[in-house]
Amino acid sequence: MAYDENNIFARILRGELPCKKVYEDDYALAFHDINPLMPVHVLVIPKGPYTNLEEFNAGASLQEMGGFMKAVAECAKLAGVDASGYRLVANNGADAHQEVPHFHVHIFGGRPILGRMIKTEN
Ligand code: 5GP
Repeated sequence: MAYDENNIFARILRGELPCKKVYEDDYALAFHDINPLMPVHVLVIPKGPYTNLEEFNAGASLQEMGGFMKAVAECAKLAGVDASGYRLVANNGADAHQEVPHFHVHIFGGRPILGRMIKTEN
């Protein structure tokens, strides 16, 4: 699938749309979800143009991939959920209802998670 340069997260990365930034480094940008489902709901996105994990895996260097995961951990710490715990979710592709076609990880936390999964009904 060709990367959509005008997806919302690409526009946030270019500074065309605002975000409530949590963290940024060479590999990742993180910001609060506009429609939080939990007290802590942070989105972490790689800086490169990757629609999903398959493109990230095929196109990103190990440094980019490692840098991204380090950023996710750093964001959990900055959001204050590293000790209490949190859930990472990456909705990847159609069956997972991925809405924004730029690979991203959700960090959910801030209270105990009651359900087994978020956005999953069975
Ligand atoms: P997914 O693609 O994993 O289903 O979810 C995309 C997420 O992006 C949703 O939780 C949605 O609330 C969030 N989102 C969509 N548009 C924006 C936006 O313009 N700004 C921010 N901060 N979050 C957004």
